[in-house]
Amino acid sequence: MNTDIFIVEDEPELAALVADYARAAGYHATVFGDGALALDAIRRQPPALVVLDLMLPGLDGLSVCREVRGFSEVPIVMVTARVEEIDRLLGLEAGADDYLCKPFSPRELMARIKAILRRAGQAAAPAAPRIEIDDAARRVRIHGRPLELTPTEYGILAALARRPGQVFSRAQLLDAAREGNANLEVADRAIDSHVKNLRRKLDAVLPGVEAIHSIYGLGYRFDL
Ligand code: CA
Repeated sequence: MNTDIFIVEDEPELAALVADYARAAGYHATVFGDGALALDAIRRQPPALVVLDLMLPGLDGLSVCREVRGFSEVPIVMVTARVEEIDRLLGLEAGADDYLCKPFSPRELMARIKAILRRAGQAAAPAAPRIEIDDAARRVRIHGRPLELTPTEYGILAALARRPGQVFSRAQLLDAAREGNANLEVADRAIDSHVKNLRRKLDAVLPGVEAIHSIYGLGYRFDL
């Protein structure tokens, strides 16, 4: 998970204070005292969130914000020294996700950051994988991508995926693998190696997602 927060602030003491709070909350904070440098860094490796001061030497916060919006939706909290500025920035549709006026309490800033990241996390959460089982063609597609499966693997995966959450014993999966493959030779203990191969193939289309769960002493269960 990306826990980087960039703090773009030319007042070193304030920047250090905000960075301390961010680190205490478990984020990895990097301070930039210059708008152009920050913009470069955001372009190279976008953080989870940017705290952006409006008045900066060189490129000001508004310009940085607009430039960033040209290539990234990274959440931005803009900080201004004057409360009237916030109205102007809203009118300009600067593109920040939130605005905070100085002096602000670092606790308040952290609360806003957490709220934004929570919202962003929900919006960015990947959609549940779509799995299609084509019984006629004996094929399985995930997100439209076909899996290259042996007939045995197809039988096992189709049985599991049709009843997500249900635990199947090895004997049940054996029956499923034989279904439609009457003369298939599958040994009971071979189920484990077929499942191992299936996991490898699933991991290629769903990296890092555990779809087939081992249930100790019982068998396997499919859950996405
Ligand atoms: Ca400033």
